[in-house]
Amino acid sequence: MAILSFGRTLVSNLFKKPVTEGYPFEPREYTPRTRGHVVFDGDNCILCNICGRKCPSNAIRIDKTERMFIIERMRCVQCSACVDSCPKGCLSLDGHYIAPSIQKVTDAYDVPVKEKPRTSEQTSE
Ligand code: SF4
Ligand code: SF4
Repeated sequence: MAILSFGRTLVSNLFKKPVTEGYPFEPREYTPRTRGHVVFDGDNCILCNICGRKCPSNAIRIDKTERMFIIERMRCVQCSACVDSCPKGCLSLDGHYIAPSIQKVTDAYDVPVKEKPRTSEQTSE
């Protein structure tokens, strides 16, 4: 009986798609909620430091004088607190696997100065 059952399983598996993935030969498909590393888009950043205050691992530092957003990658635990709290939508989590690193990586990004919109008096001149 056991041999019959084994034979049935064997034959049925011959016609099924493998359950394993052919990684690294086939690209990995990440689920929509995969949390990779923090991506910063500074166009709308107002240097409010809400992200820095919400970060549980003190990975983010805002330098208002130099107008910089600084993130220590090795401290980040991909919790998404900064992404969820940014009032300007400057942060997102890249949904890809990040290769481990043996060096502490600190990334610093310039925050561009925004030109103030001209008033009607200025534009009529
Ligand atoms: S990234 Fe968002 S939360 Fe952080 S300083 Fe800029 S605007 Fe504020
Ligand atoms: S994802 Fe979490 S740990 Fe990483 S920088 Fe944002 S708040 Fe900090």
